[in-house]
Amino acid sequence: MSTRRQFIQALPTVGTAFAIAGNLVLDESPVRAQGASTPLAGHFHPKGKAPSKFTLDALKQARGGLPFGDTRDFEEQKKGFIAPMTELKIMADAGHVAWDMERFQFLDKQDDFDSIHPSLLRISKLNNNYGLYEVIPGIYQVRGFDLSDITFIRGKTGWIVFDPLVSKEVVRAAWKLFQQHVGQGLPVSAVIYSHTHVDHWGGVRGIVDEADVRSGKIPIIAPVDFMEFTVSENVYAGNAMNRRLFYQYGLLLPAAPHGYVGQGLGQAASAGAVGLFAPTRLVEKPIEEFEVDGVRMIFQNTPNTEAPREMNTYIPDMKALWMAENVIASLHNIYTLRGAPVRDPLNWSKYISEALYRFGLEAEVMFASHHWPRWGNARVQEVLRGQRDLYAHMNNQVLHLANQGVTINEIHNVYEVPKGLQDKWFCRGYHGSPEHNSRGVIQRYLGFWDCNPTTLIPLSPRDSAPLYVEMMGGAEKIMARGRDLHIQGKYLLASEIVNKLVQAEPQNQAAKDLLADIFEQVGYQQENPGLRNSFLAATFELRTGIPQGETASTKSPDVIRAMSTELFLNFLGIRMDSRKAEGMRFTINLITPDNGEKFIVELENATLTNIKGFQASKPDLTLTINRSDLELTMMGAKTLEAQLADGTAKVQGDASILKQLASTMVEFDPRFEIMPGTKATRVAAKENPYEASDVRQPIAE
Ligand SMILES: [Zn+2]
Repeated sequence: MSTRRQFIQALPTVGTAFAIAGNLVLDESPVRAQGASTPLAGHFHPKGKAPSKFTLDALKQARGGLPFGDTRDFEEQKKGFIAPMTELKIMADAGHVAWDMERFQFLDKQDDFDSIHPSLLRISKLNNNYGLYEVIPGIYQVRGFDLSDITFIRGKTGWIVFDPLVSKEVVRAAWKLFQQHVGQGLPVSAVIYSHTHVDHWGGVRGIVDEADVRSGKIPIIAPVDFMEFTVSENVYAGNAMNRRLFYQYGLLLPAAPHGYVGQGLGQAASAGAVGLFAPTRLVEKPIEEFEVDGVRMIFQNTPNTEAPREMNTYIPDMKALWMAENVIASLHNIYTLRGAPVRDPLNWSKYISEALYRFGLEAEVMFASHHWPRWGNARVQEVLRGQRDLYAHMNNQVLHLANQGVTINEIHNVYEVPKGLQDKWFCRGYHGSPEHNSRGVIQRYLGFWDCNPTTLIPLSPRDSAPLYVEMMGGAEKIMARGRDLHIQGKYLLASEIVNKLVQAEPQNQAAKDLLADIFEQVGYQQENPGLRNSFLAATFELRTGIPQGETASTKSPDVIRAMSTELFLNFLGIRMDSRKAEGMRFTINLITPDNGEKFIVELENATLTNIKGFQASKPDLTLTINRSDLELTMMGAKTLEAQLADGTAKVQGDASILKQLASTMVEFDPRFEIMPGTKATRVAAKENPYEASDVRQPIAE
């Protein structure tokens, strides 16, 4: 699988001015996985450094403070094991590797690595299991095939599927393994999407035929407003989120002791074909009970928790509680590093509490869409109560401190998870970290400003940095002091000053290399994979530059179809460079007869707006096109011009307006610079053997 293809998948293409660029960022999962690599004895990067003695000390100290005496996670992970998956790679229909567990085998070859936090290594070893498991008779999970788990529950006529992973190829493989050992040849009888993130529905086409969904034979059940929130979370800021994923998910890092070691939720996200069938039955009420293929289920809607729309499910006759992604074996993200509106930890905690008191007092098994189940009511309650308190504490104590003047720029150094929760493995920061989550809580309630006017409308870093450099006595002095601090293990102090130099002198490779060395040590010391990956990703780009590469289309027709016309028009307003629209003024009536929608689209004041349900009395242009045809244009498969030329779309009025509008549209490029001076001026890939195989057509800048 290609790191490179992934990197550039949202690149501009010609003649698609109105297409939706790029793949989705669908929460906790990049749609693509990382590049393969064989673990090496040494560092994967020619400039890579060994962990320093300070890093070794930090990891040793961390080890001493962790509850390694509690091995229940390992027992629970193993429990009910039926069969391993023997093929370490699953191929995508398109010919590349969709899933690769081979690259994580190094994790099991040693008990310890001096460049991996012991707690992070622990979760990565737990996530390194790959096969079929029995939860209880009648409930089975295939784990380790993707970032998420797929679950099969025996119904009266077949198997009810919970959360069909990211892509169809891995789902197909999971189904095959399941059928070999347990499935008895029975068909899928229903599918349930627990929530809106792609790792919980993207592989549905691997297990269900579209005809069976259309005919109503296989119901697809999801929480209310599922489609509205499935795509919308990731469209407006999608390109920025995609770029930031390279940091959070370490997409350019090879799997290796000094690189990528897993994502906490799972090892990675699969890279096959993403598809989506719209739900055919929505769970609308806060609590709703009905039978699914003869199995009584109680659904609990939990909006605005881990996802904008999500639901837990209780199966009373099995005393089995499905906690979706609301309760996993980790602290989840309140703030996600790839960027998203900050989640509501108090609301989240309350829904866990409700699940505890509605179902958890009698449940004998609890399972979820990541990690492994919990057995026995005492254990179920222990985890539910611990997770409830984890999110509530984070909300309450952070606000407690904020109410005493602790700011967003300090909170991560002040806030601490209570000792009792720190000692529970399932409260450790394998997805959210206490550091970035605590900052997120303040952001949610108070926003970005710490209330010091210096930080209110500051200069851009590049504009203030030269004065710092001058006042500090120039580059040489900063480098000397930076090296000093680095040698003393004072990495955060070192990064403060060397970052100023890099900001002031983006072409100073020695400064970038020193900053990379500093970041690398901070990265090795992190328990949280998102933090580790972010530091190591910046390290990589400072050393190598941002790789360039070929383009590949990843637009999923199903996903484009899920996007409302209004959302599409809103996004055009974002893609428009308003500086190119100065002086333009027009009004368009847009009509999509097949779904009966009408819009006014107006360009005025260098701003593109739309309003649904209205038509202007004297439009400059009326454009009539079926929504189903418009989708081809949204996908970039057929230009609007072509639609007009063959009569698929019809216009009345001044058609040149469409050309004007197209001329203002910009394709977002996901290769924008994050660290100064990293825009590659050379083809970096050939220096990196783990990437070289994927270079087919480098793109000129
Ligand atoms: Zn998930």
